[in-house]
Amino acid sequence: MIKNDIFETTISDLTNEGEGVGKGDDGFTFFIHGAIPGDRVKASVTKLKKTYGYARIVEILEPSRDRVMPICPVAGKCGGCSLLHMSYESELRFKENKVKAAIERIGGFPEGSFEFEPIIGFFSNEHLNVPSSAKSESENSNTHPNTSRPIHYRNKAQFPVGKDSDGNIVTGFYAGRSHRIIPIEDCMIEHEVTGEILLAVKAYMEKNHVTSYDETTGRGLIRHVMVRVGFATGEVGVCLVINGDKVPAQDELISEIKKAICLTSLSLNINKENTNVIMGRKLITIFGNDYITDEINGIKFHISPMSFYQVNHTGVEKLYGKALEFSGLTGTETVWDLYCGIGTISLFLAKKAKKVYGVEIVPEAIENAKENALLNGFTNVDFEVGAAEDIAPKLPKPDVIVVDPPRKGCDEKLLQTILKYEPEKIVYVSCDPATLARDLKILCENRSFKLEKVQPVDMFSGSVHVETVCLLSKGDVKS
Ligand code: SAH
Repeated sequence: MIKNDIFETTISDLTNEGEGVGKGDDGFTFFIHGAIPGDRVKASVTKLKKTYGYARIVEILEPSRDRVMPICPVAGKCGGCSLLHMSYESELRFKENKVKAAIERIGGFPEGSFEFEPIIGFFSNEHLNVPSSAKSESENSNTHPNTSRPIHYRNKAQFPVGKDSDGNIVTGFYAGRSHRIIPIEDCMIEHEVTGEILLAVKAYMEKNHVTSYDETTGRGLIRHVMVRVGFATGEVGVCLVINGDKVPAQDELISEIKKAICLTSLSLNINKENTNVIMGRKLITIFGNDYITDEINGIKFHISPMSFYQVNHTGVEKLYGKALEFSGLTGTETVWDLYCGIGTISLFLAKKAKKVYGVEIVPEAIENAKENALLNGFTNVDFEVGAAEDIAPKLPKPDVIVVDPPRKGCDEKLLQTILKYEPEKIVYVSCDPATLARDLKILCENRSFKLEKVQPVDMFSGSVHVETVCLLSKGDVKS
């Protein structure tokens, strides 16, 4: 086959990135953006590699049973959500399979050798065996009527600021695999206040002739608008990432945003580097607190704009609840919470442990974590700033280790430390099934640990990303 050839195929699978998999006329494998299993499509070849190719949908001849009308006007264009054309039920199945396949194929754990729990979805009280459609609409206030899909569930958004071809200021999200901004102010998955804030920032910029940052020239001031909302408290924090040290007419910026919403914290983050990394190291608060406060299961948290905080409040209660359940704490244990952020999991665990040690690399997050322990009256938690792989070997011997690393997974040096310390249990919380599976393989080599349970949790509805909690117990052979 050659470029622009047209063929018909029935989609058999979805890749981990959410692209449909179909066969060309000669049995060649094609990845087709926007197609889902069960769709019969007419497609046109866009790119050919040696063993596979890419194609785009020309026409959907017969839609899959799982296909729905996307709830968002820029679905398919915006790089944020890639599964809005699937029903939420089928999205959850996809995520469940993605986790299971990674553990079995990359981790090398045979099916049946560990307990695989059904995915916990946004609406499930325990797991998806209770179909969300069985609930009434009034029960699911965050559902979209057409699809029973979670909407406006995210508490954090980072919008790039740029210009359109007419020179107007635009904010929105990047298109898939590019830095072209797809303008959007009423994103379906972000909290509703974000749109009001974007309009206020744009109004301030236009009135005061404030420039947007241009990646190609490195000129212009405003790079990103970051918004974070405490779902339990209603507090709102806004942070403008700027290519400079200050903004002109600062009072007008403050009053424009305050006119639009009830503002808790407004800060400037300085980033003058030519980089894809959104945040720089320096932060200046120009209105209100240095943080917003939120609450999870009765525990209060101060969250700085520089600190990590899980984006889905409904999901996080379920995720941390599972982590706590898997830890099986009785009150006598010494626990490490590595990659602890602002101490969220640490404080969940501290309710049931003798002592918890939290370790995190971002200094602002550790400042928050220490405040959070005080704020909630915990005296059995210590927090240390530094790389988990460097700090862990200096901590007292643990009975339980909890890790919650970023997508790249745990550092190899840390895994060796964990193997050496032989805790009774490891609880591994992960946002990337592939690196999770890689690390589990190392931890369970030579039967030093045994993989007991795997529990996927949907935290990022509409996207291909999935969270997983795993329980490992000490194995029968000394490492
Ligand atoms: N457990 C926390 C944070 C999880 S996100 C929560 O649920 O909120 C992962 C965290 O790991 C981030 O806060 C990131 O700053 C931190 N991190 C990244 N690399 C690290 C390292 N080498 N050592 C310690 N923390 C690290």
